[in-house]
Amino acid sequence: MKNIRWGLVGASTIGREWVINAIRQTGGEIANIFSTDSRRGATYANEFGISKSTTDLGHFLNSPIDAVYIATTNDLHHGQCIAAAKAGKHILCEKPLATNVADAVNMVKACKAANVVLATNHHLRGGATHRAMRDAIKAGKIGRPLAIKVVHAGYLPVHLQGWRLTSPAAGAGAILDLTVHDADLMRFIIDDDAVSVSATVQNSGMAVTGVEDAAMGAITFRSGILGQFHDGFTTKYVQTSVEVHGDSGSLVATNCMTQAPIGEVLLRTASGETKLQLQQEDLYVRTINAFKSAIAGDGKPLSTGEDGVASLAIALAALESARTHSVVNIAA
Ligand code: NDP
Repeated sequence: MKNIRWGLVGASTIGREWVINAIRQTGGEIANIFSTDSRRGATYANEFGISKSTTDLGHFLNSPIDAVYIATTNDLHHGQCIAAAKAGKHILCEKPLATNVADAVNMVKACKAANVVLATNHHLRGGATHRAMRDAIKAGKIGRPLAIKVVHAGYLPVHLQGWRLTSPAAGAGAILDLTVHDADLMRFIIDDDAVSVSATVQNSGMAVTGVEDAAMGAITFRSGILGQFHDGFTTKYVQTSVEVHGDSGSLVATNCMTQAPIGEVLLRTASGETKLQLQQEDLYVRTINAFKSAIAGDGKPLSTGEDGVASLAIALAALESARTHSVVNIAA
């Protein structure tokens, strides 16, 4: 399979901490970086041994790159994705795909029209814990699944306490940051789509007024499965988890809503409790390898553009539910 020449869109923390390493581990070359700030772009390029940096998106997209990784604030993904698709680049885009569903749908359409692959970086699909849960459910280990619960609350690291807490225009808040991941992960683990959401939010003072720094909610899935989520930036001592309960067993994953390849899964049935065997691997490496295969015509990204639209629709429905104190239906 051909190695990919990448361009980075945005001098991001997520690139610095995880994705640059994953791109290189999958054989990718990072040939260029676009940043809105020339000094930031040049410093970042220098730090990571990237030979070119530019503040001109047109020049960047005309340079010899096969794929772009968009990791800017959420409001910018849409325009940058459309421009990259028009330039014929494959796109790995950060979540949430956009800040409204119409923009996200346009991104999918633009990538289809340009015949390029669009992947959403919902890296949690690459988690060994989550993959093992999905497989166990498909193998009938818990019987008929009835409920899924995700705890994705934690403490937002100080170095990330910027636009996520202060800028509604950039797509701030725990729901667009965390619930969107939960939504994608639930859809993946139980292989089902959401039909309605109700949510309630909190502002404990960490985020500016009007931006939620925690949320809880419930999702009803098409099959009738009930989903529940707890997300937040404000609690330091919560253990993350995913539980799926069926009529003949339960799966309980702990320490799994994370960027690191850690966590474990217990299967509890009438025969007792067993630990599932896990193939731990860097979640971003798994995500990028699937993206690379999709570019080569072999399968789909772990989370496609359409999946990114679906997770965004759930997250936005949660925000609307919290605002209107009502149950919000998701358009089919
Ligand atoms: P950052 O705040 O680190 O970066 C966002 C963008 O802001 C950068 O791409 C950069 O764009 C610009 N920027 C960087 N430093 C500064 C600065 N000092 N002052 C002003 N602007 C700056 O965000 P994250 O890396 O945390 O998040 C980026 C995207 O990735 C978001 O969409 C987020 O939701 C997603 N994300 C996904 C994760 C996952 O695991 N899938 C985890 C974390 C984030 P430019 O250089 O062009 O100006």
